Amino acid sequence: MSVAAFRYIGRFAPSPTGPLHAGSLVAALASWLDARAWNGGQGGRWLVRIEDLDTTRCVEGAAQTILQQLQDCHLVPDEAPVYQTRRRDRYARALTQLVGLDRAYACGCSRKDIEAALQARGIARPRHGERVYPGTCRDGLHGKPALSWRFRVVPAGPRPSDSDGGTQAHPALAPEIRNAWVRWTDRRLGTQQQDVATEVGDFVLQRADGPFAYQLAVVVDDAAQHISDVVRGADLADNTARQILLQQALGLPTPRYLHTPLVLGRDGHKLSKQNGAQAIDTREPLQALAAAAASLGLPSQSGPIADALAGWVAAWRHLYNPGQ
Ligand SMILES: [Zn+2]
Repeated sequence: MSVAAFRYIGRFAPSPTGPLHAGSLVAALASWLDARAWNGGQGGRWLVRIEDLDTTRCVEGAAQTILQQLQDCHLVPDEAPVYQTRRRDRYARALTQLVGLDRAYACGCSRKDIEAALQARGIARPRHGERVYPGTCRDGLHGKPALSWRFRVVPAGPRPSDSDGGTQAHPALAPEIRNAWVRWTDRRLGTQQQDVATEVGDFVLQRADGPFAYQLAVVVDDAAQHISDVVRGADLADNTARQILLQQALGLPTPRYLHTPLVLGRDGHKLSKQNGAQAIDTREPLQALAAAAASLGLPSQSGPIADALAGWVAAWRHLYNPGQ
């Protein structure tokens, strides 16, 4: 596909759990720069999606605060932001489609059930991270009530060939898939691979009493919004293989991926709202942007903001060369 035929659409997708902090501004700036730097600086489109499905974590008014902070930093989306809570019908349709394809099934396992099944197989409880689902309900609920819907990571019937997956948005970086083993190329991290069957297992698409899972919503939204390039924090890199499998199952294109370096707090952990990261001070937007640019390895620029941003767009183009 020629560059001319390839349209760039990027997105920043914050969860409204609080105002932007230094870490989330890095993700916002990186995705904005990548869009603006595309095609020799001609620029692609940049969208904002509010990922507010997990209403127990969302904070009233935080989405408005985030949008205002972005505007203060001159990072203005090209379309009105979309809210995931207003798009549940799309996720429901995708789940129905996966059930019809025998790629999703009801699971009646509680956390305790999963623990017991793994123990019975002599699999020790890992100290960190999620347990790999042992597949108990793959052949039916056996009278238990459904607690969730899970994605069958390895198709039960004849496997679709790679060419049955979605049309690739950017064939140069098309992933390779065998069963649930996925190899994909990150624009910064290079070749990545994960066997989703052994490292994750059949993962949850929706809890019976709760929201659709992030993995399903993000895949549906990226396709619906024709996202060509996902630029996001490196903490989300290990979600990518799961998302590629979902894209393939739903016949959706796979975007290109670029995962940015994480901003670490004083304790050495990723800076997040959960470990008390401070909201950025958008009364001094240039200062906040300069800190974000520095953690992306971009040279310092002097104001006004528009000039500084133009300088970072040029530097970004040199680093990541989007669309040549
Ligand atoms: Zn189960």
